[in-house]
Formats: sequence, C-alpha cells, structure tokens
Amino acid sequence: MKLAFKILRYSGLAFFFREYFQRNKLSILMFHDIDRKTAKQSFEYLAKKYNIISLQTYLQARQSGDLKALPSKAMIITFDDGHKQNYEIYPILQSLGVPATIFLCSGIVDTHRHYWFKENKTGQSTDSLKKLSHQERLQQLDAAGFQPEKEFEERQALTSAEILEMKSAIDFQGHTVFHPCLPTCTPAEAKWEIDTSKQELASKYDLKINAFAYPNGDYSDRDINLLKEAGYQLAVTVDHGYNDANTDLFRLKRLSSNDTSNMDELIVKASGLWGFIKKLSGNKPGHGWTDEVTPAKAKTLSINK
Ligand SMILES: [Zn+2]
Repeated sequence: MKLAFKILRYSGLAFFFREYFQRNKLSILMFHDIDRKTAKQSFEYLAKKYNIISLQTYLQARQSGDLKALPSKAMIITFDDGHKQNYEIYPILQSLGVPATIFLCSGIVDTHRHYWFKENKTGQSTDSLKKLSHQERLQQLDAAGFQPEKEFEERQALTSAEILEMKSAIDFQGHTVFHPCLPTCTPAEAKWEIDTSKQELASKYDLKINAFAYPNGDYSDRDINLLKEAGYQLAVTVDHGYNDANTDLFRLKRLSSNDTSNMDELIVKASGLWGFIKKLSGNKPGHGWTDEVTPAKAKTLSINK
C-alpha cells in the first residue's frame, strides 16, 4: 500500500486533483488523534499547498452568499472526538497559524471516561457493534465490563483546563455526548445526544456551538432535523468529496487522512484522489479507525461537479 501512495503522489495525479478539482472548491480534512511529529509535517505541507480557513469563516461566506471571497484551494482542518493528544499539537497549529475545529463528545471530555470504540472487549468487531441498535450495543459493552460513565485511571480526552486554554484559537464544536451512531438511536435518544452536548459545551466552556460532526459519519434526515431544531447551523459527514455553493450545509463532505504519518498517503488523501479511486472501485472511504463500509453509511457518494 505504501508503494501505491508513492506512485500516486509522484504520478502527478495528486497534483492534478489539487490544481484542477480542488482549486475552486472547499475541502474539509478530517483527523482524530495525531502525534506532534505527524502534525508538524502534515500541517507544514498543508499550509503550504492549501489556504487554510476556519469553519466559521466558511459558514459566514455561505450565509452571505459570497463564496468568491474565499481563497482558492480553501481547506478546513477538523479533528473528531476531543482526544487528549490534540492538546500536544496545539502549539504547532498556533505557530503555523492553522485554524482548526475540534468536535467534542461532551460526556467524555474533562472526565476519565473512555470512548466506547476504544474499549471494545466484547469479542465482536467494533464495526459489527456499530450496526446494532444503541441499546443493544450498550448491553453488549456492559456485559464486557464497559459503561459510558465508567471512570478509568487514564484519561483519553481533553481536560477542561486544556479546552479553556485552547479556545481562543481553536473552534470547539459538537459531536454528541457519548458518540453513538445516531441512526441506531431512537428519536428520544438522538435528541438527547444532540441537545445535551450543545448545552453542556455551551454552559461549561462558554462556547458558541453551531456546528456538529456526525459520530462515525452516520446520519439520517431525522438527525438533520434534530440538529436544526437544536440551533446548529451546519454539520460535517464522512461522505467523500469537496464542497461548493450547492453543498447542503448539514451534509458537508470531508476527506479522511486516517491519521497517517506517511506523507505520500497524506498528500494523496488530502487531494481527494484516494477517495475518488475508492469510489471508483465501489468502496466508501471510511471513518478514522476503519475503512469498512457499514449499511448505515452506504449512501450515494459523489464528488461535486
Ligand atoms: Zn468521532
């Protein structure tokens, strides 16, 4: 696979995608939990090749209808979940002047609770658990000794002090309370996850929450309506592609880097070339910790024309 990324990078195709397809579109790149070394090389490269803007700048441009005010090869950097290592790369983002959005699980940050997908001791794959109903999944995890509110010795998420320190330069936004796949939730469960996370983040950290990332990239029309009712103004998916003036603000597309430390892979993935190839081969470019396609995610893929 490493060789494939190298060939794709040096074939000129990644360059072509960047200069031809990405030039007048907005790309949103998704990370989860990268270390300092990876962050330094990745963001030095991205800041050189793209014009990195904030999610809020993009939202304002969409609301005013003035997308021409955005630079060419505009890119937004996002991180999902609120992993504690995000704090370690904060100085790198700051020194490069890279604005970023971090989507937080309000029930996990500032606690020693763990992300359920990192504590799966059920004997089943995490992908198969994602296909169960919310309650069934919780029962399976519970039988294996994990509860969403269980406190562990080690923390996995950012602390309150870290969030408060970073919030002058980082845009913190919503990612539910405990990270269920929303379409597996009942309407009441989905509403609770969406409303509570917004309220908790706003009151605890004095944040203006208007953006949301769907856990695992999974969403339904019902979830979009719940977000609108809760006062969110946009949401990002893991549907592959670039964004333009016609992209639904609650179905914004993202490119996944899979947190790679391989620069050939980052360059090929950030250009959208990798997702395009996977789409051609009938595969959906997946969420951060897996490339497996789930039925809930088997939606139509399209690169904006
Ligand atoms: Zn997530």
